[in-house]
Amino acid sequence: MHVYSPWWLDNKKLDFPRGYHIELWGGMGMPSYGFGFNQSAVNEYIGEEVGGYGHKIRDEVKDFYGSLVGLSGRGESIARKENYCEIDPTTVDEFGIPVLRFNYQWSDNELKQARHMHETFEEVLGNMGGKLLGDKPGPEKKYGLHNPGRIIHEVGTTRMGSDPKTSVVNEFERLHDVENVFIVDAGPFVSQADKNPTWTIMALSWRTSEFIIEELKKQNI
Ligand SMILES: Cc1cc2nc3c(=O)[nH]c(=O)nc-3n(C[C@H](O)[C@H](O)[C@H](O)COP(=O)(O)OP(=O)(O)OC[C@H]3O[C@@H](n4cnc5c(N)ncnc54)[C@H](O)[C@@H]3O)c2cc1C
Repeated sequence: MHVYSPWWLDNKKLDFPRGYHIELWGGMGMPSYGFGFNQSAVNEYIGEEVGGYGHKIRDEVKDFYGSLVGLSGRGESIARKENYCEIDPTTVDEFGIPVLRFNYQWSDNELKQARHMHETFEEVLGNMGGKLLGDKPGPEKKYGLHNPGRIIHEVGTTRMGSDPKTSVVNEFERLHDVENVFIVDAGPFVSQADKNPTWTIMALSWRTSEFIIEELKKQNI
């Protein structure tokens, strides 16, 4: 189940650009006591000693089963010149083709955005009457930001733009340099919005297809 809350705030009132969406998760998995094990231990979700037999375990199952709720934030990271990929000078794939090497650092924008996520999620969960579990990551842990690329929404590298000096394809995903080549995947993205990319890939491909049909009718390609 993928409950998805879109961005709702006004960036003019915030100290970072762009937004993030919230993915809500939870489920019926806990407390997950085992049969003959795990009945008296610090539960990894609840963070306190639980377990036992008889009434105690029955009460805990009633209290905890299905009570775990989590919020994940997925934010937009603005493209910066310092973040780029290049052809790796030494590493090749199984076919001997050089692989891509990524140079990517989080900027202050993402750190502030991640801090805002934590403050917001604490507020939401607190107002729900929830008990916060786990350690709250501070600046030393980059407010819980994962390593760049961890969320596997691969986009960019053949960016779209009107200037052939700074972009690879035009607004119809057609190469500036070679007229009959179109890139209809996530390559033309100039930024990874907080949204998942596939619908935008589809929408851009649709626009490109219509352009190709129109150009074909005119016998331009
Ligand atoms: C596990 C997972 C879950 C995801 N879930 C979602 C989701 O729920 N919603 C969403 O919107 N997005 C999701 N994404 C992200 C989305 O799938 C990607 O952003 C998207 O597929 C990128 O599309 P693409 O066509 O640009 O690249 P890809 O789909 O990666 O296609 C690149 C293609 O190029 C080929 N290729 C690479 N090198 C060469 C070469 N040298 N020669 C010839 N061919 C080559 C590869 O084999 C591949 O077929 C998910 C991604 C993953 C991995």
